[in-house]
Amino acid sequence: MESSLDHDLATLWMGRLLRRAAMVGKAGEVPVAAVILDDCGRSIGWGANRRERDGDPLGHGELVALRQAAALRGDWRFNDCTLLVTLEPCIMCAAALIQARMGCVVFGAADGKRGGLGGVLDLSKSPAAHHHMVCRGGVLARECGELLRDWFRQRRRDAGAAGGSAAPRSPQSCCDP
Ligand SMILES: [Zn+2]
Repeated sequence: MESSLDHDLATLWMGRLLRRAAMVGKAGEVPVAAVILDDCGRSIGWGANRRERDGDPLGHGELVALRQAAALRGDWRFNDCTLLVTLEPCIMCAAALIQARMGCVVFGAADGKRGGLGGVLDLSKSPAAHHHMVCRGGVLARECGELLRDWFRQRRRDAGAAGGSAAPRSPQSCCDP
């Protein structure tokens, strides 16, 4: 699967995801977006964080994209597909991607605090992973990290201006100032 998505194509898709992530960031969600490509390179599922909007702890971009792609295909197996996402998947999403038999995962910024593909744990290498998933990080990592850092900085500023004491804390080490 890895060879089916070369560097230029991965960068192109990550640029699109960054624009989508920025849009959801403006709507108050943590700016993360994901897309699933089939073996022909067609997008079959898009997702962005919807946790705040839906009040749903499962509302991560990767899971939203997985649900959309599974509904489109009428299948839960994604061995021939690639998921791209702007931030390293968390442990919940990494486990879901293994369950979905995702062929390849490409991400932007690493997440040293919550990442499930090498950040804190690497579920893709766990003996519990019954499926081998090719993983590659670092595609437009600086841009993806900056988007998140800026978003959290702005949120803290807004919370401070409002006199709130519960300024959100960045879940990503890449976002720590
Ligand atoms: Zn997640």
